[in-house]
Amino acid sequence: MQSSLSRRTLLKALGLGAVTAVAPSWLRAEALPRVVVVGGGFAGATAAKYLKLWGGTSLEVTLIEPNTTYVSPILSNLVLNHQKTTADLSFDYVNHSTVYGINMIHDAVNAIDTSSQLMTLHSGATLSYDRLILAPGMEFAEINGLDYEKVPHAWKAGAQTNLLQSQIDAMQDGDHFVMTVPASPYRCPPGPYERACVVADYLHNTRGLANCQVTVLDANAGITVEAETFGAQFEAYGITYRANISIASVDSDARSITFSENGGASETLEADVLNVIPNQKAAKVVVDAGLVAGNWAPVNPLSYESTLAQHVHVIGDSQATAQPKSGHMGNSQAKICADAVLRSLNNQTPYEAPKTNTACYSPVSSTHASWLTAVYEYNAETGAMQLVPDAGYPASGAPSTQNYEDMFKWSGNLFADTFA
Ligand SMILES: Cc1cc2nc3c(=O)[nH]c(=O)nc-3n(C[C@H](O)[C@H](O)[C@H](O)COP(=O)(O)OP(=O)(O)OC[C@H]3O[C@@H](n4cnc5c(N)ncnc54)[C@H](O)[C@@H]3O)c2cc1C
Repeated sequence: MQSSLSRRTLLKALGLGAVTAVAPSWLRAEALPRVVVVGGGFAGATAAKYLKLWGGTSLEVTLIEPNTTYVSPILSNLVLNHQKTTADLSFDYVNHSTVYGINMIHDAVNAIDTSSQLMTLHSGATLSYDRLILAPGMEFAEINGLDYEKVPHAWKAGAQTNLLQSQIDAMQDGDHFVMTVPASPYRCPPGPYERACVVADYLHNTRGLANCQVTVLDANAGITVEAETFGAQFEAYGITYRANISIASVDSDARSITFSENGGASETLEADVLNVIPNQKAAKVVVDAGLVAGNWAPVNPLSYESTLAQHVHVIGDSQATAQPKSGHMGNSQAKICADAVLRSLNNQTPYEAPKTNTACYSPVSSTHASWLTAVYEYNAETGAMQLVPDAGYPASGAPSTQNYEDMFKWSGNLFADTFA
């Protein structure tokens, strides 16, 4: 066995002297395989936890996440109507390090070299991996003139959510709330429609501002999911809904948006509160590593290994399997990926018949919620995930107070499975 001094000398000779605990396992004869997970959201935090739960002391797991607190986007529309606070939706990584023995690094990954299996962190440190799981969520497409400090997206939860809440709270009777829905695929298909309902209910019924208007500008040809439910709610709240919208620009100071409908003439709409949720793509670190085709990262759904680079897996919102971009789905993919990585470290092939599950609960007021769920299975002929045939998926439930209560049981279980 090499002494650590001779390993350091060897690394220095290889030009890797400044590296933090660096060598790949082929240089560390006595070392355990190192799996690095990037991003501590629903996908990454679950993957790191289950790698250790199932892999135990047979591997070293490192989770890289810039923030010490994660704020869940799930339920975050309930911050806008004061049913929840961002503190209620906040989670830390203490269990990851103390209960599961995961190395937590609070830093961001700036660059990944998939050929040498090395990555550079924002702090300048370099880290090697034997297997890499990327779970950094998603990024927004740029919109001319859009400044999130003035026109929040509130689609990644935290400060943005609180900013939108305070803008809505400053609305007076007769004011106009205008929001946009991104083109599919995007994070949480029902989420924007749910937000329109929650805001309309809050303005009209909680704050008694009967003359406030809510307008939804949708990039899609129609309501993308639960169309009957949201269509009926929009009618009941008097929400103006317009489809096939292309955004040209935003004036963030004036809170106005310029767009066309159905490819027609350009129009500008003034808002008192403007909430633009732009189109979406894989997170920057995934794009920069050359792991994207189009907007998202293609993967083998048996293992979530990238089809563009060996030993790199992509789970959660950034991946391109055409399954919904939801936290529940990210949690589900994380377990399939963790199992496949552990098998691969033992020279085994991935489980050949994986199933995944998604669920979204949508509050439409401070008392009622609907739900949407689906189960997917691997189709060996197409090599893709598909809805389980003849099972009635996607299935949905109309708004009710019972569903509103169940929403907290479901989310409590998901939060615990990811962070506890
Ligand atoms: C209003 C709303 C309601 C929703 N409701 C539901 C619901 O009912 N059900 C449901 O299942 N889902 C819901 N979602 C969707 C869900 O929140 C997302 O799909 C989920 O968060 C995606 O998980 P993820 O782990 O892929 O990404 P994220 O949760 O975004 O986590 C990514 C993490 O990666 C980190 N990161 C990014 N870049 C780097 C880097 N370079 N280096 C290191 N770390 C990095 C980030 O800091 C972040 O913590 C909702 C979303 C919204 C906005």
